[in-house]
Amino acid sequence: MHPVKAASIYIHIPFCVRKCFYCDFASQAGRQSDFGRYCDAVKAEAHSVYERYGKREVPSVFIGGGTPTVLPADLLCSLLEEVFRLFPPDENAEIATEANPGTVTLEELRQLRAAGVNRISFGAQSFDEALLRTLGRIHTPSDITRAVETAREAGFENINLDLMYALPGQTQDTWRETLRKAVSLGIPHISCYSLILEEGTLLAEKAAKGEISVPDDDTCLAMQKTAARVLSQAGLERYEISNYAKPGMECGHNLRYWEGGDYLGLGCAAHSLMDGVRYRNDASIDGYLAGNTRLDAQELSTSDRLEEAAMLGTRMTRGIELAAFYDRFGMDFFKVYRTETLIANGLAVISDGFFRLTDKGLDVQDAAVLEMIRDL
Ligand code: SF4
Repeated sequence: MHPVKAASIYIHIPFCVRKCFYCDFASQAGRQSDFGRYCDAVKAEAHSVYERYGKREVPSVFIGGGTPTVLPADLLCSLLEEVFRLFPPDENAEIATEANPGTVTLEELRQLRAAGVNRISFGAQSFDEALLRTLGRIHTPSDITRAVETAREAGFENINLDLMYALPGQTQDTWRETLRKAVSLGIPHISCYSLILEEGTLLAEKAAKGEISVPDDDTCLAMQKTAARVLSQAGLERYEISNYAKPGMECGHNLRYWEGGDYLGLGCAAHSLMDGVRYRNDASIDGYLAGNTRLDAQELSTSDRLEEAAMLGTRMTRGIELAAFYDRFGMDFFKVYRTETLIANGLAVISDGFFRLTDKGLDVQDAAVLEMIRDL
């Protein structure tokens, strides 16, 4: 008998109260009249993938968006119930949802907790009121504090805040202040992302017209170092390029993704990697509702998989475990990748059975990966 294979599950909820000025994620404001129809479509997709792949162990579930908590909790819980009926999460599975600090109530968070959700990730972005307005966020700094307190009252201990740096007009001082306020909440996990001006967003337009400017690359790197220092002093260690956690509180869903585990994406814009085949669902709500799922199915070649393993594995500060690499690919790590120059230049090291990038290597991770995969 074959053992049951594992797959993490991602559920995309593409609705938001309002579109933030920097956002190019698959999400739309309004569309309340489509909430029910969308959840029905995701349930139908879950049935169809169940028929295709059958039972799976489910070590983690991540509900992202968009703003999942824009959905009435009854609707979101009924969607989870149906997905969990087909794909029951493992006993100790991490079941996480994203949430906007401006969209949570105690009653609704209690419902989500009762439905099995045990991790909540708030898109806080900044504790600076002016910067939140610049970003077009719907919440204030005090909403963030209230949301964390409400989540705790509802029974959540595993709480993350997403923060952003390299924002227009942001200084090292205002960034440090945001980090300090986040740390003072005593949460176990913080993610720090630098602002990317994505084409087609309002902020990118303003930057092109010279109406705003963002910190240069050196300042951006200095802000990342500030985050690492302030968070480390508070006991949150960097375990991935953008993620910091207290020991044992790393995001299990993301770790499995970086380690190359299978994942099943449900909903519009969701991507999947199942049994070595990658595919995506239509990125638009209407396209998804029209049934456009499992697009661009592509069987990954060995060199695709090796490239992905280098790209994702080196994001983690612990790096790539050499024995696990051999078990997965049946190949010697050092015969596959070019590592000598990286090691000689202090960008990578081998220690305790892992190959990992140093801090200096993580600063240039893209270039380090290109060097590693040069001969693939
Ligand atoms: S809340 Fe998140 S997904 Fe929604 S518009 Fe803002 S950044 Fe985009």
